Amino acid sequence: MTNTSSTSNALMAITARPPITMVRGQGSWLWDENGKRYLDFIQGWAVNSLGHCPLQISNALCTQSKTLITPSPALHNAPQLGLASKLANSSGLQQVHFSNSGSEANEVAIKLARKWGQLNKHGAYEIITTFNAFHGRTIAAMCASGKPGWDELFPPILPGFSKVPFADTDAMRSAITSNTVALMIEPIQGEAGVIVPDDNYLYSLRQLADEHNLLLILDEVQTGVGRTGTFYAFEHCGITPDILTLGKGLGGGVPLSATLAAERACCFEYGNQGGTYNGNPLMTAAGLAVVETVSSAGFLASVTDCGRHLKDKLLTIATKHGLLNVRGRGLLQGFDLPAPCATDVQTLAFELGLIINAPRPASIRLMPALNASKAEIDDAIMLLDTVIEQTLRDNTH
Ligand SMILES: *Cc1c(COP(=O)(O)O)cnc(C)c1O
Repeated sequence: MTNTSSTSNALMAITARPPITMVRGQGSWLWDENGKRYLDFIQGWAVNSLGHCPLQISNALCTQSKTLITPSPALHNAPQLGLASKLANSSGLQQVHFSNSGSEANEVAIKLARKWGQLNKHGAYEIITTFNAFHGRTIAAMCASGKPGWDELFPPILPGFSKVPFADTDAMRSAITSNTVALMIEPIQGEAGVIVPDDNYLYSLRQLADEHNLLLILDEVQTGVGRTGTFYAFEHCGITPDILTLGKGLGGGVPLSATLAAERACCFEYGNQGGTYNGNPLMTAAGLAVVETVSSAGFLASVTDCGRHLKDKLLTIATKHGLLNVRGRGLLQGFDLPAPCATDVQTLAFELGLIINAPRPASIRLMPALNASKAEIDDAIMLLDTVIEQTLRDNTH
């Protein structure tokens, strides 16, 4: 036994963590210091797109770490160039800038939009975002987010963001002023509890942006890189954004994010953006391994197939336990419990060896590895069935 609880005093308290240490991961499974095994349907918050410690990534990291770890952000390196051209080609966008987190990729998107407004819209800088949106935890990304209560956390609020309800094109249209430069949304709101808008929503935001000469910024930090069954979630809707951000699954477990932009939005000049670690070959080599795997023949079809399997199984236990709104796309799925007991469900599931997430008091989110097997999905559903039955029973007695 290690002494997690005494050593954890050296960590700043940012969240309640169970008093154990995780020591090993393989595929869909995670082991703690006591040898207990967990079926991981969170995967580091949709980060480990290929599961824990996949060979493709450990090989890429191993090889790259013996070749070149960081030349300098002011010099080219091969994995960065390779990954940039793959992402540009697959998205239909022109250029890419790499960073280290989703928040940072969104900061870059916000800076790019403000610069574009200076050059093309007489200094317009306001970005319209949505209530309950999650764009990250740096100050600008927090101000762009619509998480309830966040406005009061670290005043003063950064000017330049206005908010409207999600999945409401009319509200977006009414909020546009001469100071508006961009519309920024998640194709599916992840942290809000997997909120899936009508397919027509992105399409009408694209039209709205074109009518008013605005940039459409899509935050695909959670939905990108195969999570929804297409490489980018925007592919479901037949549109292309002007600016796109990726993170989480892109690095497959290592810190890597990207901001992609269409030619008309690529307006940075030397000195406008940087970052010591941006595009370092160790992280971009891992990103290349992820992108090559996710783009390989049959991979995305299997995400769609497993996503459907997961949803079908969820629907069977939904009928049994009165679960509501089973929703999601690909391997990003969520549902509502008939009572606000999601934290209890998450806690009991963890005790029984299943890791899931409760993004809202009554909702559960699942984001397994993109290569999780149907047998693992069935195991997770079986555990979930037991956990929900027990939790609902305890809550009603
Ligand atoms: C997680 C997330 C972010 C923030 O990413 P970090 O890597 O935690 O900074 C931004 N946007 C969305 C949609 C996310 O899910």
